[in-house]
Amino acid sequence: AQDRVFNFAAGPATLPENVLRKAESELYNWRGAGMSVMEMSHRGKEFMSIIQKAESDLRKLLDISDDYAVLFLQGGATTQFACVPLNVCKPEDPVDYIVTGSWGDKAFKEAAKYCKPNVIWSGKPEKYTGIPAFDELDQNPDARYLHICANETIHGVEFKDYPTPKNKDAVLIADMSSNFCSKPVDVSKFGIIYAGAQKNVGPSGVTIVIIRKDLIGNAQGITPVMLDYKIHADNNSLYNTPPCYGIYMCGLVFEDLLAQGGLVEVEKKNIKKAQILYDAIDESKGFYRCPVEKSVRSLMNVPFTLEKSELEAEFVKEAAKEGMIQLKGHRSVGGMRASIYNAMPLAGVEKLVAFMKDFQAKHG
Ligand code: PMP
Repeated sequence: AQDRVFNFAAGPATLPENVLRKAESELYNWRGAGMSVMEMSHRGKEFMSIIQKAESDLRKLLDISDDYAVLFLQGGATTQFACVPLNVCKPEDPVDYIVTGSWGDKAFKEAAKYCKPNVIWSGKPEKYTGIPAFDELDQNPDARYLHICANETIHGVEFKDYPTPKNKDAVLIADMSSNFCSKPVDVSKFGIIYAGAQKNVGPSGVTIVIIRKDLIGNAQGITPVMLDYKIHADNNSLYNTPPCYGIYMCGLVFEDLLAQGGLVEVEKKNIKKAQILYDAIDESKGFYRCPVEKSVRSLMNVPFTLEKSELEAEFVKEAAKEGMIQLKGHRSVGGMRASIYNAMPLAGVEKLVAFMKDFQAKHG
């Protein structure tokens, strides 16, 4: 619709128009309940049906087996940076972190409070533009887990494949905040997957954790109840008042993704959108530049710079005038960034690409 902008924000991010319309139509009186989802008891039958449907639709989308629990939590992915080591490790346990950007680095630093993490590979010397070759990784054979950030939101580097922990008793753990449900993932390769909802699947305030059940129940004694996976798993995410409305919104997004044909179809659309944007950058003869190594460029977050960096502010301002907003790169790296999550329509990316060509013609 004309009154909506194309929002390229990294998160909170654009949501599917039909999901917003549906939420609007159900806002005042949810399916005859005589109240909105925000007003319902989280233990009533209406909300129980909402959270159960959200979980079962997510299980369908990602083909999650019964060996895994699905939790709807709060505190953002940032809280998971602490939850993971608190639940999986003893204080003296070594664990390995691959750091491919700022988020992986934050996860590592938080873990250092609760166990003995080691950065086995860092992309920092190359300004976080790559992913390591897995056979070169110097994994600790005693590490309890190997942690990755599957998609670095700020730097735009994405794992296309996943490393296997060297220790057979260890698990792979991934922060999938910014590429969650953007493509099929073999959940069985992971011990824990966690993601804040506010990029691909809903509003902020909901954090989704998919965890292999045998990893639950070993939290360190100091673990606050709100960070203990066992408490949440035993109570089906209803130990305390959950973020009810956010979970409802995630449920509507999951329904929408299934209606699109599931994540195989969703990935095809995401590949196409990313392709036309990266092509526009690569074919600009250096006017635009994406620093990320081609094989690991993110389908979700596309960072780029202008050769004439003095034009960047004008680029952002002119794009905003045409209804394309939030294109400024993260303050830590500068330049531009277009986040093109599931809900960004192809038309939005096409409009951006046309704008980029016009802008180059004017200033090239
Ligand atoms: N991990 C990644 C990959 C992120 O992009 C973000 C948020 N931008 C976070 C973690 C932190 O998430 P939250 O703000 O939900 O704590």
